[in-house]
Order: sequence, then C-alpha cells, then structure tokens
Amino acid sequence: MAKISLEHIRHAYGPTPKSEKDYALKEVHHEWNDGGAYALLGPSGCGKTTLLNIISGLLRPSEGRILFDELDVTNLSTQRRNIAQVFQFPVIYDTMTVYDNLAFPLRNRHVSEAEVDSRVREILEMIDLTDWAKRTARGLTADQKQKISLGRGLVRNDVNAILFDEPLTVIDPHMKWVLRSQLKRLHKQFGFTMVYVTHDQTEALTFADKVVVMYEGEIVQIGTPVELFERPSHTFVGYFIGSPGMNLLPAKVNGNSATVGDQTIVLSAAPDVGAANKVELGIRPEFVCLGREGMPVDIVKVEDIGRQKIVRARFAGHSVAIVVPEDTEIPAEARITFEPARINIYADSWRVGTEG
Ligand code: ADP
Ligand code: MG
Repeated sequence: MAKISLEHIRHAYGPTPKSEKDYALKEVHHEWNDGGAYALLGPSGCGKTTLLNIISGLLRPSEGRILFDELDVTNLSTQRRNIAQVFQFPVIYDTMTVYDNLAFPLRNRHVSEAEVDSRVREILEMIDLTDWAKRTARGLTADQKQKISLGRGLVRNDVNAILFDEPLTVIDPHMKWVLRSQLKRLHKQFGFTMVYVTHDQTEALTFADKVVVMYEGEIVQIGTPVELFERPSHTFVGYFIGSPGMNLLPAKVNGNSATVGDQTIVLSAAPDVGAANKVELGIRPEFVCLGREGMPVDIVKVEDIGRQKIVRARFAGHSVAIVVPEDTEIPAEARITFEPARINIYADSWRVGTEG
C-alpha cells in the first residue's frame, strides 16, 4: 500500500499542444492517502481514464511527476509500480480455466501453491464463480468474464494500489450491488489504496470515503459525499452531484442579502465576493421549503418519484427544482423560503445552458 502523490501533472495526447484545450489533463496536483478509497467521478471525456493510466504507468504524462510514498515512479513500467488495474472490459486468458486465470497474478510472483489456493478460493466465493472454477473462460458470458477480471485485480494483497476503471459497466444491476459491497469489505480488510473511476454518482457516493470530482481535465473538488452534497466548492459539482442537481440562481449581493430578479433573499452573513457583486446562489432542491409563506412561485410540473416528489417551479424568472416528501400538499398559491445557512454563494458562473 502506498500514498500516491500527483505533482503538477499535465497531459496532451497530440505531439505539439497549441493551447490549453489540447490538454486532456490541465493541472492535477494532489496527494492521496495510503489506504484511502477514492472515487474518481466526472462526465465522459473529462480525463478520468487518462489520469488512471498515468497512475498505473500505461501512459507517461507530458509534464509532472508521480510518487508512490517517497519513490518517484514517473519513469517506471506498470510492473515495477506493483499495482493492480481492472478495466471496463474483461482482460482474461480465454484458454485458461477460471481458477488458473485467478491464480495467474500470484503464480507470476512465485506465491506458494497453498497460498494461491486459499486466495483463489476466497475470490471465487466473492465473485460467485466457485462452481465454474474448472471451466475454461472461453464459454463464459461477458459479465462472468468481467467478474474474473475483477477477481484478478483483487487476488494479490501486496499491491501498492488497486485501480478500477468503471469495472461494473457490463455487470447486471443486482450483482453490481453485491460486488460493490464486497469491494468495500475487502478494502476494509486489506487497507489497500483504491482508486475507482466512475461516471455514476450513486456508485461513487456509496463506495468511496473521498470523492474526487473532475471536470474538463481538472480536479474541481475532493471531499466526503456529505461535503460534496452540502458544500460543493464549484457550481459544476453542485449541478453534477445530486438528483436533481443544485439550483443555481444568478443574484446580486448587497451586504448580507442578495436579490434574484425582484426578490430579496437574506444570507447568513455578508459574503466576501470582492469587486463582483454578481454571483450564483446555490440551493439544493432538498433544502427549499415549499408552503404558504415566503416568496411566490409558479408551479410548472410535479413529478412523483416514489417516496418524494420533484416540484418544478418558476421563481423570479428562473427555474427552480424543489424536493418534498411524497405526501406534501402543494398549496394553490405556493411560496418558498430558503434557509440562509443552506445557501452556497459562487463567484464563478458555470452554467448548464438550459435556463428557462
Ligand atoms: P474519461 O475517462 O473521463 O471519459 P478520457 O481520459 O478517456 O476521459 O479522455 C479525456 C480526453 O482525452 C477526451 O477529450 C478524449 O477524447 C481524449 N483522449 C483520450 N484518449 C485519447 C487518445 N488515445 N488519443 C487522443 N485523445 C484521447
Ligand atoms: Mg474513461
């Protein structure tokens, strides 16, 4: 197990990058703790796989260094970095048995056959393929093959880190849930440093103790699931985490209040927004209070999502989503209030572009 330090990593795939947009990774500078379980979360194309491959050594970064503990591994091969990596699609030997596929990484390291047997049996149990141990991998289904891939990543317990790149994409939903909790258990048991790439926020939030949110080649926030939910550091994080995402309202700050359209909203303190008094107020749909008091809204739509309802409304010329318990009665003349402590204030202006 090891601490992973990423020092000023930048990466461009093309030979001569001309501008910032030619960089798949712009400036990644972080230290990930020994034994941490990190989920790397972000939309498709934001650079997750690129960063993972740089950590594993499949890719050499254009700039910057990678350290495992104090050792500079930037120029070391994947093998010499002593890591396990599981990809989105199965990487296994079709002509070998399931058992031999799992034993391979251990035999490669000259582990005793007794130890091989006990580790392989444990993993077979975990991925629910004990009865298939003697079969060759060729005839298996795609999701069985992927489970073998996952097992091969987990079979060694002496690696510096285990890296997963969306490994459960081809697995059916129920098994996904089972494997996720098994992974969590193994992580607790062996304490390996784990980096788990996903574009699925549910997966990231249930699984990791730290979630790393990426956006356009940069890490925009690292935090616990609660921190990301309650205090997104960036409007993109607010929008991306949560369902529906955080409401973003363009506002003008004036002391300890803000105006949105013709409405005035009290803030918990006068924010320090520098010269710019134009900001975005971020309020989670879960923290908007809907009732007969406060500022007027026009209800546009109510969606029933089981134990809750999502109310879509117009407020001071903007769309607002509100999440309320299923049995909430929506008054004819609905009004809303925001609890001041639940309002986040942003000077940056990332936008979804679908306001209206
Ligand atoms: P993610 O895993 O988050 O979907 P990637 O790391 O695969 O994102 O890609 C980040 C960016 O780098 C994207 O713009 C993608 O098109 C580009 N990219 C990825 N792999 C290559 C490659 N082999 N050659 C050129 N560009 C690439
Ligand atoms: Mg990817």
